Amino acid sequence: MRILSVYGSTKTGKTTTVEAIIKELRKRRYSVGSIKEIHYEHFQIDQPGTNTSRHRQAGSQLVTARGLHETDILYSEKLSLADILKHYSHDFVICEGVEDANIAKILTGASNHDLDERWGPCVIAVSGVVSAQLDSYRDVQAINALTDIDQLVSLIEEKAMPLLPDVDAACCSACGMDCRTFCDSVLKGKSKHSECVQQQQSVHVFINDQPLDLVPFVQDMIRAASAGMISQLRGYQEQADIRIEIRNNHDAST
Ligand code: SF4
Repeated sequence: MRILSVYGSTKTGKTTTVEAIIKELRKRRYSVGSIKEIHYEHFQIDQPGTNTSRHRQAGSQLVTARGLHETDILYSEKLSLADILKHYSHDFVICEGVEDANIAKILTGASNHDLDERWGPCVIAVSGVVSAQLDSYRDVQAINALTDIDQLVSLIEEKAMPLLPDVDAACCSACGMDCRTFCDSVLKGKSKHSECVQQQQSVHVFINDQPLDLVPFVQDMIRAASAGMISQLRGYQEQADIRIEIRNNHDAST
């Protein structure tokens, strides 16, 4: 699943760019999901006093509004992008307004000043209003989504990749840099996505079938502790793969 974000200041053409990208990807027969980051502090679909809000107030930890034409699953917290993406299984997920994730990004602006203000690592192209007057900006191309969508989506096909981790540099620096710099390095062709140690994870922990991200230090700790105990059991073999499952049988009442 390849992820891309279109971000930039308001009224610079983000949604128009996202719409054009989604249409072109669908035309190329990819499955596409999307995510819209909302920065408005008071945004809330679930308004006080509605029945779903009353469920939440009563203590329900996950509320679903099941309507005739749509189903809205309402979490009462801001989820990380990694957790949101667990709901998706599409070829591409296009995000609007996500700036803080380690993924390929397109920056939109209405002027060079807008681009200067929001410029950061992992930008593969600039677009939006300003792209009608520019051919390039810093070291990337300026591509107008309204007139050159073919070129923009071909670049996305080439560059967009799965979400990279975002762990504290104190927990992991196995690639020799922090996660954001590594992402930028992959997008510039200087590193490979597979060189992130989390892509080579050899210890996997799932909670209710959801995988946890484990930095190398935690993987080593779990491996050493588990292998230490299991090596005392009959049947243990050096170098064998080990699988442990812990099931909580909450419903075992019969
Ligand atoms: S190896 Fe992966 S998790 Fe570790 S710092 Fe590099 S990108 Fe981040």
